[in-house]
Amino acid sequence: MALIVHKYGGTSMGSTERIRNVALRVAKWVRAGHQLVVVPSAMSGETNRLLALAKELMPQADGPEALRELDALAATGEQVSVGLLALALQAQGVPAVSYGGWQVPIRTDSAFGKARIDSIDDTRVLADLAAGRVVIITGFQGMDPDGHVTTLGRGGSDTSAVAVAAALKAHECLIYTDVDGVYTTDPRIVPEAQRLTTISFEEMLEMASLGSKVLQIRSVEFAGKYRVPLRVLSSFTPPDIDLDEEARSGTLITFEEDEKMERAVVSGIAFNRDEAKVSVLGVPDKPGIAYQILGPVADANIDIDVIIQNVSHSGRTDFSFTVHRNDYARTMALLQSQVLPATGAESVSGDPKICKVSIVGIGMRSHVGVASTMFRTLSEESINIQMISTSEIKTSVVLDEKYMELAVRALHKAFGLEQPAAV
Ligand code: ASP
Ligand code: MG
Repeated sequence: MALIVHKYGGTSMGSTERIRNVALRVAKWVRAGHQLVVVPSAMSGETNRLLALAKELMPQADGPEALRELDALAATGEQVSVGLLALALQAQGVPAVSYGGWQVPIRTDSAFGKARIDSIDDTRVLADLAAGRVVIITGFQGMDPDGHVTTLGRGGSDTSAVAVAAALKAHECLIYTDVDGVYTTDPRIVPEAQRLTTISFEEMLEMASLGSKVLQIRSVEFAGKYRVPLRVLSSFTPPDIDLDEEARSGTLITFEEDEKMERAVVSGIAFNRDEAKVSVLGVPDKPGIAYQILGPVADANIDIDVIIQNVSHSGRTDFSFTVHRNDYARTMALLQSQVLPATGAESVSGDPKICKVSIVGIGMRSHVGVASTMFRTLSEESINIQMISTSEIKTSVVLDEKYMELAVRALHKAFGLEQPAAV
């Protein structure tokens, strides 16, 4: 008998029919003797629908009072899900009880729309489990120190589930979703992409931050911090498939590096079209310049990703960085109005049509020549690299957006990722 946390995404909860399937699956685990805590998302499309209603009444809801109401509103999607799932379980004769985040409580800070979990009280949940009930807890939401309902940011139910699993020291947190695991890259771009049976937590962290949308990045950070064993698997297998088979399916996110030693050097190719590049040209090359450029950008709460400063020629240099595409116009305006006059740079330029493609693998730590294989592959396809950034376990390149799919396909092939991983 083990304590297991299941998380079901919006698609898995998308209709009463699907909720019944979730209940059948959960019931199977209960009948096998496990204690179950289930964290569902809102029914698919529901959070968008609620936020669109809000927009009709207040197009720019960004003041603190409005943000509070947006969270109170958005959190109702999950409230519906937990109630329906508890009923579906009870209808099958499985004792179940549902709780909103505030009832557990899941305590968060007061950053409405992107709250962070501070603590989870396990008393009530453990008592219910001991009494033989399945406990169903809303994803995505919590309660701040003043008792206001908060939400954790879009996709936040993943983080709720992992946090609940950490608090309860669950044996495993199973994330049931509409894909059957984590792939070497997006199968919509590379049909030969393979499902990974395991991926290290560090690789998953890179994949999530580099644009692979399987898990909310904060859930991966949480899993790493508290070492929560995490598995991503399909909720579309028949609910009555063999439990042992189901428990081994999908992709396991591991913490043991040794297991990976024999595996491919590169585990996956991630990409991201959401970035834009800006450059400040002809900046005087003297101490403090990077701060003079990036300080105002940071003060405006704009996140910066890849940064490049060139070697200077006759005392001047070029400085480029990438930002989220949504922040592009704001960043350009800020560079023109503040940075240009303050630094005495010659001009600013920008390009919102770029993409970032990255190779990820913990094997890169101990293998040389990985980056050069990447660069050779791109040069063979005549793709120009605009920026490069590296960490211990990834190399990213910034490219013209029109080359993205070509680059991903070529790299996937060059690193032999279309071969099923040896087990
Ligand atoms: N329902 C929320 C959203 O759509 C949270 C989640 O699904 O994880 O973002
Ligand atoms: Mg999700």
